Amino acid sequence: MIKSVAVIGGGISGLSAAYYTRKLSRERGIDVSITIIEQNPRLGGKIQSLVRDGFTIEQGPDSFLARKVSALDLAGDLGLEDLLAGTNPAAKKNYILHRRKLHTMPPGLMLGIPTQMWPMMKTGLLSPLGKARAAMDLLLPAKRSTEDESLGGFIQRRLGKEVLEHMTEPLLAGIYAGDTAQLSLRATFPQFLDMEQKYRSLILGLLASKRPAVKPAAPAGLPRPALTSMFLTFKGGLSVLIDALAKSLQSERLITGTAVRSLASSHEGYELLLGDGERLKADGVIMAAPAFAAADLLCDVPEAAYLKQIHYVSVANAAFAFRKEDVPHDLKGSGFLIPRSEGRGITACTWTSSKWLHTAPEGKVLLRTYIGRLGDQRWTAMSDEELKARVAGELRDLMGITAKPLFCELTRLPQSMPQYPVGHVEAIQKLRGKLDKAKPGVQLCGAGYDGVGIPDCIRQGQQAALNIINTIAGSGLG
Ligand SMILES: Cc1cc2nc3c(=O)[nH]c(=O)nc-3n(C[C@H](O)[C@H](O)[C@H](O)COP(=O)(O)OP(=O)(O)OC[C@H]3O[C@@H](n4cnc5c(N)ncnc54)[C@H](O)[C@@H]3O)c2cc1C
Repeated sequence: MIKSVAVIGGGISGLSAAYYTRKLSRERGIDVSITIIEQNPRLGGKIQSLVRDGFTIEQGPDSFLARKVSALDLAGDLGLEDLLAGTNPAAKKNYILHRRKLHTMPPGLMLGIPTQMWPMMKTGLLSPLGKARAAMDLLLPAKRSTEDESLGGFIQRRLGKEVLEHMTEPLLAGIYAGDTAQLSLRATFPQFLDMEQKYRSLILGLLASKRPAVKPAAPAGLPRPALTSMFLTFKGGLSVLIDALAKSLQSERLITGTAVRSLASSHEGYELLLGDGERLKADGVIMAAPAFAAADLLCDVPEAAYLKQIHYVSVANAAFAFRKEDVPHDLKGSGFLIPRSEGRGITACTWTSSKWLHTAPEGKVLLRTYIGRLGDQRWTAMSDEELKARVAGELRDLMGITAKPLFCELTRLPQSMPQYPVGHVEAIQKLRGKLDKAKPGVQLCGAGYDGVGIPDCIRQGQQAALNIINTIAGSGLG
């Protein structure tokens, strides 16, 4: 008998889950019908690329980490290798704003943590006392307990307040738009905890991770950009991946512009009530919507109340296009980050056309600025025009740009960056354990759970698909 699987959410997690459900069902000869329900008219969720006047503009994420192979595997499966693009090797430099001045990020900074002595001694980002405190990481004992703590608390404990505020926070917080004092270490960078336990010192641990005893050979057949660049995207933007997934899923049922309003268990499996009144029956359900939306759909599971505690921060970004001659800056690098303590209206600026050479036509410049982080949400009350003017003022102040841009594309992303609270990993494990018993065949996946990066979301979608197929094959669901 044909089993039915409903996927709630058409972002990268949901589309990957649907893709791998179909792939596995074919491989195992299991008859499955798949329905994807996305509340927006457009697929892709946070991933949104815009091509305008020869510019390629990302309105959400701009790239993915090459070393987390799930994204590359999927790109390969979909035949997209030739469209992969790496970062410009001549734009490796990054800057951090400190006391209104841009400082080069010291070489050897790994995930915002110093691993080379000489550049650290020379940097203007830390005071002499701050440098001495950072070096104490080499001497301080490891914490005895391996209990979860905050990411910020951990960095400060190991390297001191200055490293945390001037170097690590702006870099790591850029990934989460969060406050490191509230983010779970175990859910964001569990490797730091392991390094402290194994090497006592975080710096020594990072150094050891840089020099593996036996350097693993690069997997055969990796496309060229993946061998040379830490971050990858597609010529044409990340939406290329969404479009290819949508194309590969064109024979599935795809419902867009309609939300799932409720999920009820029945003796035959599950019943989803859609916004247009349709009642959809399913044997298995993959929930790939944000955690707060999943919490509403799982309101009859007490453990799911935790999902409401995962706060989602609202962010925005503004992409500015200029004529090259109107930008009085050499733009030699990838851009700059702004620590919270600088109190500016933007959190970072990517010199997009320097970092990604395919994103702007000859003689033009593309800059992308980022707005909003936890604790700084005042901008949400501003109109688009006010916000654009504020950001233009920051570009004038920090980079001396006074010219009118060719255009500015502002994108607001309400409730978009999940903040994993301390204890997140354990709470999610507990919820999944409960779901296995109370709602077999219901899977959670997406940025709210096991990692926010695009490869993390794809990996979760793949795992959810495997779990659903195993459940269908093993227990005769429905
Ligand atoms: C500004 C920004 C920059 C980022 N930069 C990077 C980066 O450079 N690299 C990187 O790897 N990651 C980056 N990320 C993170 C990454 O983009 C996201 O974590 C990822 O795209 C989330 O995918 P998802 O499918 O889990 O969630 P989403 O993309 O949020 O998709 C969930 C979908 O569920 C739908 N939905 C919600 N409720 C319902 C319902 N009841 N019924 C039906 N549908 C529903 C939503 O409309 C949405 O489309 C960035 C994120 C942001 C916001």
